[in-house]
Order: sequence, then C-alpha cells, then structure tokens
Amino acid sequence: MRSIRTLSCFVICFTATLFFSSIGRGDDIAEHARKLHFSSVVLDTHDDTTQRLFSKSYDLGRRNPEGHVDIPRMREGGMNAIFFSIWIDGRTMGPPAVQKALDQIDVVLENVRRYSTDLVLARTADEVRQAQAKGKIAVLMGIEGGHMIGNDIRILRMFEALGIRYMTLTHFYNNEWGDSSTDKPVHDGLTDFGKEVVREMNRQGILVDISHVSDKSFYDALEVSKAPLIASHSSCRAISNHPRNMSDQMIKDLAAKGGVIQINYEKSFLDQAYKDAYESATGSVVVSMEEILKSCGDDSGCVILEMSRRDRLLTEQGKLPHVNWEKIVEHIDHVVRLVGSDHVGLGSDFDGAKMPDGLEDCSKLPKITEALLRKGYSEDDIRKILGRNLLRVMEQAEHVSRALRAEK
Ligand SMILES: [Zn+2]
Repeated sequence: MRSIRTLSCFVICFTATLFFSSIGRGDDIAEHARKLHFSSVVLDTHDDTTQRLFSKSYDLGRRNPEGHVDIPRMREGGMNAIFFSIWIDGRTMGPPAVQKALDQIDVVLENVRRYSTDLVLARTADEVRQAQAKGKIAVLMGIEGGHMIGNDIRILRMFEALGIRYMTLTHFYNNEWGDSSTDKPVHDGLTDFGKEVVREMNRQGILVDISHVSDKSFYDALEVSKAPLIASHSSCRAISNHPRNMSDQMIKDLAAKGGVIQINYEKSFLDQAYKDAYESATGSVVVSMEEILKSCGDDSGCVILEMSRRDRLLTEQGKLPHVNWEKIVEHIDHVVRLVGSDHVGLGSDFDGAKMPDGLEDCSKLPKITEALLRKGYSEDDIRKILGRNLLRVMEQAEHVSRALRAEK
C-alpha cells in the first residue's frame, strides 16, 4: 500500500515538475526570442508595398487595416530593413516600362523623405547596419523584372545611381533577353545580351536575383556572375513543387557559389495541397494575376486587396485549404538541412502574395525567431537567417563591383 502511494506520489510529483519546468522553459524561450529578434537586423528582400504607395487610401506612416506592411507594423514586428520592389507588368516593355519604373523609384524615395524620422535609404550592407544602430528602418530597392531596363544597359547604370540594389532578371513573362519560369522558353535561358546584363550588374554592384527565372536562365546566370546570386523571394520545390520555387539541386548549386534563397510566404509556394487546390480553382498564379490586373485597371494598389479578397472567398467556400505560418519555418529548415545556415533568409512577398494563417502581416515576424529557437537553432544561425546572410552577399557583390570598376 505504502509503495503504491509512494509510487503515485512520485508519478504526480515528477509530472508536476515536468509541467512547471516546461512552462518555465517556454517563457524563457519567448523572452529569449524577443531579445534576439529585436536586437537583430531583420531584413526582408521582397515587399510589393510600393504599389500601395500610389493609393490615396494608404499611408505608410500609419497603421492600415489591410495589407501587410506599414511603419507601425514594421516596428511591432522588428523588421528594420526592407526591399521595396519596383514592379510593373512584364508585358509593358521599352520606354514606357522605364518611365513606370522611375515613377515607382520616385514614390519610394519621396516616402523615405516624408518619413525620415523612421526611414533611411540604404545602398550598402554597412548602411543597413548603421540604420539598425540608429534605430531606423533601412529602405532598399529592387527592380522586379529586367524588362524595366528597356533593353538599354545604360538604364541599368541609371537605376544603380538612383539606389537600386538588386534586379530580378525576369518576371512572369519572358523578356527580350531571358526566359521566365512561368512562360514557354524562347531563348534557351539568357541570350548573349542577357549575359551582358548580368556582367554589368556585377560591375554596378547590383545583386543578380534569380527568383522568377527559368531553370536554364538560373544556370546561365550562375555561370556568368562573378558575385553570388540571390533568390529574393522563392521557396523549396521539395515541399511545394511550383516552378517559382527552387529544386534541391538548384539550392545546392546556388549555395556552392555563396548565394542565398530568401523564403517566400505565398501559400502556393509553401504548401503543395494549397497550390494544387488553387490551380484547380483559378488556373494558375499567372492566370489569376491577369484577371486581377484587368479588374483593378490602373489602380495598382488594389491588386493585393483584390488578391486577398478572392483568396478569403475561396477559402470560406472550402475550395482552398488553410495553410499555417509554420510552413515558412519548414522551408527554412529544409534549406538548412540541405546546405547549412549560411544560405537562407526572408523574402516574404508581403503585399504581393497570399499570407498563411498566423503570419498575416509583418508584425508577426518575431514568431519565426521563436520557432527557430524552439527547434534548437543557435542565436548566431538565427541572426544569419534574419538578415546577416543577405548582408554578407551584399558585401561580396560590393567587393566584386569595386574590383570590376577598377579595371580599365
Ligand atoms: Zn514576384
């Protein structure tokens, strides 16, 4: 009898100890995560918020009820470095494409000026670190689609002078010199001019971004580029087999040359079941984007709101499954297992994609840090994933640029 009582006491006491110590540990991790997250450079390489800056109903400086990014939510989520994407539909080419890209660069720079208490333009890895040290948000710009240089390499140089730090070689459609992952190949990758563009990007210190390009364009860029490449907003095909994502072999080859894949939070890219359901409900991301662009007309700020509205409706109708934010961590972990912690980062596609449940906007970013800590990741690895990996690649591109510019 006594031994049974002793045993039951032992079981209860042991269970209670486990329970309370796990609560204690959980709180420690949450606090640890908060400190780590808010003392790190948290850099997101792809945000389509630029489109919203033209809208009269949107103000970057105040909390907006819709969309994914504004200064108050960036502060709340500890996001202190952001690449505003300069994007126009890939079917607009030549001088009108250049003009529209300039309109967008101007609207970003005007917002940096308007909100200079919070924001500062950054062109180098060092300037991103300086911004963080001063408690400011570093604003960077990336051109999303090589069609915006209007087939003129001098425009690329002008973009660099205006502060552009990366260029995605294509968007959804092929351009005159490169094949896209979501179009029928016509150039067998990059043309000779396309390869010349990559060389000039190296010379200018503009990161070569291979998100959106066909596999052959990726390998052409990898061969030509003297600096490591980035995928500014792509995820893993091993988890969701989408042409916008990267295969394990591509990730290994990208990493072997020092590059980074910045994980995209778009539900189709995160989750195979969602991708399949979305394609049977709408056709594809390209088809559905074409429809949305048609219905939004010239109001580019409406695209993200319309995209979210359609997604909500189809989910309510049971045509699309829910996708949980932890899928993002699964993709990060997949890359780390494949090539280590030096080659992965964050490229949300906020304001340009459909966000998973639980990561509805940039204010939720600390969850990712906490999840990685709970998985046993070291502080150092987490800081790399949050931003240092990308800063390392920027520094390498800056180094290559200095060497190439010194050549006569
Ligand atoms: Zn994109």
